[in-house]
Amino acid sequence: MLLAMDIGGTNIRYHLIDSKNQENILSQIEDTQTTAIIALIEDIISRYHIQRIAIAYAGQVDNGVILSSPNIKVEEPYIAKYFADHHNIPLHIENDLKSAALAEYEFWGCSGTMVVASIGTGFGAAIVEGGKLIRGSHNLAGEIGHIPFRYSEIPCGCGNHYCVEASTSGRALEKWIEYHSLPIHNDPLQNLQTINDPRADTILDNFHEGLIYAIATTISLLNPEIVVLGGGVIHKNRYLLELLEGQIDKYTLATSLKKTKIVLSELEDAPFRGTLFLAD
Ligand SMILES: [Zn+2]
Repeated sequence: MLLAMDIGGTNIRYHLIDSKNQENILSQIEDTQTTAIIALIEDIISRYHIQRIAIAYAGQVDNGVILSSPNIKVEEPYIAKYFADHHNIPLHIENDLKSAALAEYEFWGCSGTMVVASIGTGFGAAIVEGGKLIRGSHNLAGEIGHIPFRYSEIPCGCGNHYCVEASTSGRALEKWIEYHSLPIHNDPLQNLQTINDPRADTILDNFHEGLIYAIATTISLLNPEIVVLGGGVIHKNRYLLELLEGQIDKYTLATSLKKTKIVLSELEDAPFRGTLFLAD
């Protein structure tokens, strides 16, 4: 039996899947902040015959080791080694966006290069070519949020002031609204467009330009067949696709753009679906 988990900043969702017929035997959800991950997995393997574990994880991961996570307390970075040594069970763990990208690649029937870009709290991307993730030397390829853009008075989460994520991300919108004490409490992109304030216009302009700039950069660098846009901010603001399609030609080579399709993600549980490819 396969234990497939999606560990996000808010929830841990897990499924037990019969290895023979791929049938989903059990699905559960736990609160990430109050759940000890190692203890949870050990409890599951004490009750079920688990042969493999596959995890999509909201953090940076390299070769079975958790490097960091912005929202999850890391209790055991060497998680794959831990389960190999203590329980003799193979464990595959991958960054959740990279895991999701594997599922998107299959869903869209891509055969060339695909970029999956996600704007939620942060701004990340994953690249798949020929069904394989492009990882870089430490599995950190695709950190699109940290490519340089305009100077931002408020630093990025990484500490730098020129990262595009400091302008184009859910967290950036929250911070800029707070910085200027603007009276906006939800749906920032929509509400910034309705208030008559030049500071709101600047926040919007930086967000939109950052998005176009970052996606155009990946298209020029990678010449992808498909760019998939996902994440909470994109899904709540579907006009961003139109904006991108209308303006991206000002920042990228016309010949690279001609054959690139830009689409919105349609998969609900892409990080979890991707774990099925990790365990193969
Ligand atoms: Zn940064």
